[in-house]
Amino acid sequence: MIGSFSRLRNATLLVLLTLITVQCSSLFKSKTAGELSPQGQALFREVAESDLPWTVWDKSVQQRDIYLLELGSGEDVTVIFGGFHGNERLGAELVFRFAEYLYREQLPADARVILVPVVNPDGLVAGTRSNAGRVDVNRNFPTANWQPYDGSRQNYHGPSPASEPETRAVMALLDKYHPRKIVSVHTPLEVVNYDGPGQALAEAMARHNGYPVKADIGYPTPGSFGTYAGVEKQIPVITLELPRRATFGDIWPANREALWEAVRFREE
Ligand SMILES: [Zn+2]
Repeated sequence: MIGSFSRLRNATLLVLLTLITVQCSSLFKSKTAGELSPQGQALFREVAESDLPWTVWDKSVQQRDIYLLELGSGEDVTVIFGGFHGNERLGAELVFRFAEYLYREQLPADARVILVPVVNPDGLVAGTRSNAGRVDVNRNFPTANWQPYDGSRQNYHGPSPASEPETRAVMALLDKYHPRKIVSVHTPLEVVNYDGPGQALAEAMARHNGYPVKADIGYPTPGSFGTYAGVEKQIPVITLELPRRATFGDIWPANREALWEAVRFREE
């Protein structure tokens, strides 16, 4: 009896110690996270200091600016997002360079283009997928299938749908601009994924970059932006996934043309 009591006590102590260790190590990670990505910090600084006529659309958890560039004033609105996931720097860089490029080009008369290169600036400077509240912004949208975790419990979707300022900033943007089509740039799956009525646009874009077109990326994405805007609001949403281990020079010419295609594309 005494033996089993002390075994129970030892087991309880072990569980407590493990919990404390896990808590401490995650605290440690969040404290140092801001120092982790010099490249992310450099890219965010470059966006902030560029001479493009940005609007500060909203603020992140840590009060960083979420920049928006509006070009043209036509009826056909295309919205292009980058940097939902802060550790996917190449996607944010593509949208930023495309904003610089498009600013100097002549848009079709009926076009308006809204570019937000860094949806999640805290994640970009920290080099983390999630925002500063440790929430995956691309799983935080108020969809019918929202849930706080997916299978692994590694990836937190927030305390409630639309709990994060970055999520609400994206929702408010759709309410204001009513886009006809949306592109959201990610890494690393090398695919042109679509949600909602986006197949024709996905195929048109894929003719430029040669990536496979897919309606499904192979795993469930509850609360994703594609489900929110594509499936539920029925706006064509393209999730452009750039390849793993590519340099910017590798992906630029073909994906500049793919994004141009999205701007010029008109539903027949
Ligand atoms: Zn992503």
